[in-house]
Amino acid sequence: MNESIPRYEVLIVGGGVVGTALLYTLSKYTDIKNIGLIEKYSDFGLVNSASYNNSQTLHFGDIETNYSLDKARSVKQMADMVMRYLESDKENSSGNKLFSKYSKMVLAVGKNQVQELKLRYPSFSELFPHLKMIERDEIEKIEPRVVEGRDPGQEILALVTEDGYTVDYKRLSHSFVDKALSKNPGLDIHLNTKLLKISKNDTYYTVLTDKGEFRSTVVVIAAGGHSLMIAKSLGYGKNLSLLSMAGSFYTAPKVLNGKVYTIQVAKLPFAAIHGDPEVHSDSVTRFGPTAKPIFQLERYNWSTFSEYWKTFGMGLSPIISLSKIIFDKVLFNYIVVNFLYDLPLIGKRLFIKQIRKIVPSLKLDELRYAKGIGGTRPQIVNNTTRKLEMGEAKLSGENIIFNITPSPGASTCLGNAYSDTFKIIEFLGDKYKFDQKAFEKDLM
Ligand SMILES: Cc1cc2nc3c(=O)[nH]c(=O)nc-3n(C[C@H](O)[C@H](O)[C@H](O)COP(=O)(O)OP(=O)(O)OC[C@H]3O[C@@H](n4cnc5c(N)ncnc54)[C@H](O)[C@@H]3O)c2cc1C
Repeated sequence: MNESIPRYEVLIVGGGVVGTALLYTLSKYTDIKNIGLIEKYSDFGLVNSASYNNSQTLHFGDIETNYSLDKARSVKQMADMVMRYLESDKENSSGNKLFSKYSKMVLAVGKNQVQELKLRYPSFSELFPHLKMIERDEIEKIEPRVVEGRDPGQEILALVTEDGYTVDYKRLSHSFVDKALSKNPGLDIHLNTKLLKISKNDTYYTVLTDKGEFRSTVVVIAAGGHSLMIAKSLGYGKNLSLLSMAGSFYTAPKVLNGKVYTIQVAKLPFAAIHGDPEVHSDSVTRFGPTAKPIFQLERYNWSTFSEYWKTFGMGLSPIISLSKIIFDKVLFNYIVVNFLYDLPLIGKRLFIKQIRKIVPSLKLDELRYAKGIGGTRPQIVNNTTRKLEMGEAKLSGENIIFNITPSPGASTCLGNAYSDTFKIIEFLGDKYKFDQKAFEKDLM
């Protein structure tokens, strides 16, 4: 064996919030010492985890009306882990603020939505005891611009809570890495190192990068949409493709005090449009995200165009699936309109109609397209069922895990790390221990 080739027990590929949450969990709560991480860019959290690329929300499931009660229960458990971590790291030594806390509400507009929210409230308020149902007067006290200029005859209702966490997931990635290094200074972290090819023999994986070769008994791929491309190169996930749904944002001067979500359209797996204060500046309100399909795995990065097609797969099957999904009437209309939102002049004029459901008196000249802002969500297309799958996907193979992470992948990063850690211990033949009790005491 070549002694100069680094050899690990666990190698993580991808330094976003998902990969770094796992690095932290393994370093703090297991006795595995020989761990590596490679990231193709010069810093952690520069892709979807960057604060300018996502909506910065810690999703609990209380104001996301696309979540069923069961889904909300499972997302809440994982979001609680991040919330506990954030609260415990509030006074971190770097002085970098990881989050801001604002109120958050979901707003029902019109008779049908009000009825829907009323029906939802009893069961959701059991799971989220801080959730309050409020009417026009109280909405006005918390968010005056939601009521200003609104037709007095229009019914509105909201569910509101003070537990609105707005998170800088890039900074959170850094915090995970710092904490992991303080527990295990021997961690081997390689930035500017891109996985080019991966292969396996009987005992280990060989990861070929632009900086040389690495070997590892277990590999976890936490590379967003690229995880599926890498999985396919090893023969996994062949029945899956990706719909890469880019999200754009518009900004306005402060018109909201906290987060205001709208009611979800049932068939859509993307969060409904919402207005949020920026994590580091409440003088800016950000509206979005929009959702339009692009043929790239990373937004604004044309070198990922060919990679997208590798992930999409060859043959008729993915084309049939995608056509079936896209030509569904609800989704098709939605996508067409969302394309228009990105166009100069007309986009702003169309999008303001959506925003005025939240802030009826918003003026056109208050609104700006946030250029270069917004990532892309790798939504899974299942070519067997020909359906768009909701939420994250995890593929597990021989000593390898692939995490594909559309929204709310940042909110569930520690929950994901928790389940990956069990699997990794199992892969390594129970040679190592996961101090599950300590993890649960700290974070659950
Ligand atoms: C518009 C939008 C809004 C969103 N809003 C929210 C929200 O409010 N709340 C929420 O919880 N989630 C939200 N999400 C989802 C969330 O941003 C992602 O789920 C999360 O950031 C995924 O983290 P990750 O570490 O898996 O991916 P990333 O942060 O994308 O990290 C993957 C890393 O892998 C690296 N990589 C890729 N290929 C290679 C390779 N070959 N070699 C080495 N490294 C590689 C990349 O450089 C990158 O750093 C949103 C997403 C979008 C696009």
